[in-house]
Amino acid sequence: MSKAAKEAGAPLAIPFARVRCDGRELEHVKEVLASGWLTTAGKTLEFERLFKAAVHGRFACAVNSCTAALHLALEALGIGPGDRVLVPTMTFTATAEVIRYLGADPVFLDVEYGTCLLTPELLEEAITKEPGAKAVVIVHFGGQAAAILAADGMPGILDLCRRHGLKAIQDAAHAFPTRLRGQMVGSFGDATCFSFYANKTITTGEGGMLVTEDGQIYERAKVMRLHGISRDVWDRFTGAQADWEYDVVAPGFKYNLPDLSAAVGLAQLERAEDYRRERQRCASFYYQHLQGLRGVDLPVCQGSPEDHSWHLFWLVLGEESAVGRSRFIELMREAGIGTSVHYKPLHRMTYYRQRYGLKAEDYPAAERHWQGAVSLPIYPSLTNAELEYVCRTVRGILNG
Ligand SMILES: *Cc1c(COP(=O)(O)O)cnc(C)c1O
Repeated sequence: MSKAAKEAGAPLAIPFARVRCDGRELEHVKEVLASGWLTTAGKTLEFERLFKAAVHGRFACAVNSCTAALHLALEALGIGPGDRVLVPTMTFTATAEVIRYLGADPVFLDVEYGTCLLTPELLEEAITKEPGAKAVVIVHFGGQAAAILAADGMPGILDLCRRHGLKAIQDAAHAFPTRLRGQMVGSFGDATCFSFYANKTITTGEGGMLVTEDGQIYERAKVMRLHGISRDVWDRFTGAQADWEYDVVAPGFKYNLPDLSAAVGLAQLERAEDYRRERQRCASFYYQHLQGLRGVDLPVCQGSPEDHSWHLFWLVLGEESAVGRSRFIELMREAGIGTSVHYKPLHRMTYYRQRYGLKAEDYPAAERHWQGAVSLPIYPSLTNAELEYVCRTVRGILNG
């Protein structure tokens, strides 16, 4: 992009994210508008039913964010004041803030360099150091599943949780559709939380889903999602009982997903696997064209690339790389390419650092990742010509 164009505030030629809504979104939304019922009703029920089927889950509870789903999951699992909950430092603040909502305390863990995932080894070490923890939140970082299930005779994270009496909550905000050796994320574990925020793999603008195998967690989440009312709104207006009659059994929240949003979600869901395949095309392109840059690491994909949702693709610029991270981001922007950073780890955030007296040297892998991490554009509408331009630009900057 020319300097003049940049000063005029011209949009980036290749933004970091671009939402695609060219399926049946309008069709579904029109039905909702015509029905005259915009909040939670039939479309949301249908979205829950189809999403649950897509992830091979047992129960699904639609909510207005993944943050809400995480909060409801922890609440339903009985996490309360003074409890300690293990959580990776390499994540978005929502993963940890919900622990504070309940008066519990997060205990931050380092992740594996290359994948940014929690591993059974890291968890086992943490359990030894922190024997009293009640639960762990596992993040399927970037869209790749953590080693939740046993493999090759080695216990998975869920096995360790069972053995040590820890509840396991999965933050799958990046991980739809994601598989672990062919099994859908959402089909195993106590509670799995998905995000439909605007820049996630499928979107409802704002939205989320709690998927669980456990009927009790589901029932509790459903009540707490809507003010702690014992019947949901839809049921109140269609059920056999009089519509004015309801009871409040707890001080619940206002987390229901409106039908207007669910309508968009239904259309997105129809194309989720196509979108995933397109992002995989972007990732393969990057792996093919960005190998061998001095001092630059690419993300490690452990399983089949078909199992990965490819929400993120990052570079880590090490000390040997031709330019540092900030300069790299600046030069990319000058070339019209948007980038982002995932994430500044939570142990570096003022609130957590000060409240829990956290030290960067206790998180060597997260530090190594974050110091040089840059996320590249990765979305279905990115053409091969655009990918070619991104790779040429990256190589131009980093070969220099
Ligand atoms: C986006 C995100 C969330 C929160 O999702 P919302 O739907 O915006 O609440 C939680 N965890 C991770 C890792 C995320 O990236």
